[in-house]
Amino acid sequence: MSDSHEAPEAGRTHFIQDIIEADRAAGLHGGRVQTRFPPEPNGYLHIGHAKSICLNFGLAEQYGGVCNLRFDDTNPVKEDTEYVESIQRDIRWLGFSWPGEALFASDYFDKLYEMAIQLIREGKAYVCDLSEADFRAIKGNFHTPGTNSPYRDRSPEESLDLFHRMKAGEFEDGSKVLRAKIDMASPNMNLRDPTLYRIRRAHHHRTGDDWCIYPMYDFAHGQSDWIEGVTHSICTLEFESHRPLYEWCLDALGAGAEAPKQYEFARLGLNYTVMSKRKLLRLVQDGHVSGWDDPRMPTLSGLRRAGYTPESIRNFAERVGVARANSTIDVALLEHAIRDDLNERAPRAMAVINPLKLVITNYPEGEGETFHAPIHPLKPELGKRPLPFTREVWVERDDFAEIPPRKWHRLAPGKEVRLRNACLVTVQEVVKDEAGEVVELRCTWDPESRGGLAPDGRKVRGTLHWVSVAHAVPAEIRLYDRLFNVESPDVAPEGEDFTANLNPNSLEVRSAWLEPGLASAVEGDRFQFERLGYFAVDQDSTPEALVFNRTVTLKDAWSRMQKKR
Ligand code: ATP
Ligand code: MG
Repeated sequence: MSDSHEAPEAGRTHFIQDIIEADRAAGLHGGRVQTRFPPEPNGYLHIGHAKSICLNFGLAEQYGGVCNLRFDDTNPVKEDTEYVESIQRDIRWLGFSWPGEALFASDYFDKLYEMAIQLIREGKAYVCDLSEADFRAIKGNFHTPGTNSPYRDRSPEESLDLFHRMKAGEFEDGSKVLRAKIDMASPNMNLRDPTLYRIRRAHHHRTGDDWCIYPMYDFAHGQSDWIEGVTHSICTLEFESHRPLYEWCLDALGAGAEAPKQYEFARLGLNYTVMSKRKLLRLVQDGHVSGWDDPRMPTLSGLRRAGYTPESIRNFAERVGVARANSTIDVALLEHAIRDDLNERAPRAMAVINPLKLVITNYPEGEGETFHAPIHPLKPELGKRPLPFTREVWVERDDFAEIPPRKWHRLAPGKEVRLRNACLVTVQEVVKDEAGEVVELRCTWDPESRGGLAPDGRKVRGTLHWVSVAHAVPAEIRLYDRLFNVESPDVAPEGEDFTANLNPNSLEVRSAWLEPGLASAVEGDRFQFERLGYFAVDQDSTPEALVFNRTVTLKDAWSRMQKKR
């Protein structure tokens, strides 16, 4: 795995910027830069798409051009308006916009049909009656050239008539296609008379039942770019071998100097997750996650729900950079980006997610006082938050050890610790239930230590978070962890598929106690729960029943685990 934790050098351009600079210097397209982001509306956007979005919209922004959002809706079978809406929402959330309405390849079905007719008239395309299987049999392979279809030399008039009748619905699905007449011996398989149009009786989410023939992606894409005036058509590396076809179509149609050009960059891969929309859909349909926006999903809606900020994702994309070599990025880099951002912006709060009651026996019953803590330690201008304190407080069960290991600075019999911003307490007695489980710690406090400082300067190493029992606000806390146990979940064990790599402990739900100020938290609010991590209010949250998602832990527990191994 190649791991690129280093940010690209500031001010350095990447290869696509270099190409654009050169094109502008040469006066190509009058110096204009126009890009597009062309998602297929067959799933939700994921972090890989974010890389492409940041690149395409970012370049348009940088060079004062535009980036269109154009849905590649040429395959009616898998597409859905739910996806069309979620995709627009996610791009806007990332902070980008497009001029006017979103565009659709299907907007150009009429024009594309006219272009196909032009190719037929000029003898550059023909209707072929071979079935898919029969064409495959003559197509040849990497080592052997193909042979011509028996329909290749059909007259343009005959092809034209058949193509009209294909459109009119006279033929069965799959019984005929329109092919480009290129070269059945080309070393590039994509140039061996590729299909331009096929018959497919399927209801289209926008054009309904108007069409029963649909253009192939390879025919629709470049021509849509051209129609819109795209100058730089940026896609991922798997389309590299399609570039000659992209160029052939534009050239055959006479696009000339105005033709857009295709450039390829490496797609983003991330470890501990899957990115194929087919697999993400499987996770949703089989109920391995709660939906496309489950906080464990690598989708933008999942990351948003988990508490990721758009800024953190844009920073991540920036740091990953743009190159032509495929690589897998460590998800730790994404987590680092959100920690960095939330460390800056998230107010601090105390929450106890695995509560144990601590009773201060020498604190008067029925009384209380209020301590104060900074809302953000680096931003004193934000002021302080009140922390009511009473005889009973919740502390974290994991912060107590009856038989402490070496160098234990937290709660243990006879040990003195600091309750953060409050005072010093010493454990005097451990109360257990019949099963032997610890249910309460009875402590004494030093009334001279108000605010948390030792009056005589004695050393107290442990500082713990806490919440007053009488004031604590209940909340459901969802602790999310990585969805998969292994770095490359796509690689499945013998006889199984990627779901065998799912992490069975990727969600743990806790009943927690929060400091009282959090009672008014609403969806979209994000906090650092001191010592625990960053948390965001979930969309399921209501004032009566708060729900928080853990966005990310404070430190990278996984990489520490790996080092230990
Ligand atoms: P899938 O193959 O899973 O269906 P896709 O790549 O076909 O995904 P599209 O909706 O066609 O998904 O993608 C829209 C744009 O986003 C394309 O230009 C594509 O190249 C780009 N893209 C998709 N996945 C990634 C990725 N992992 N990294 C960078 N760009 C990506
Ligand atoms: Mg695609």
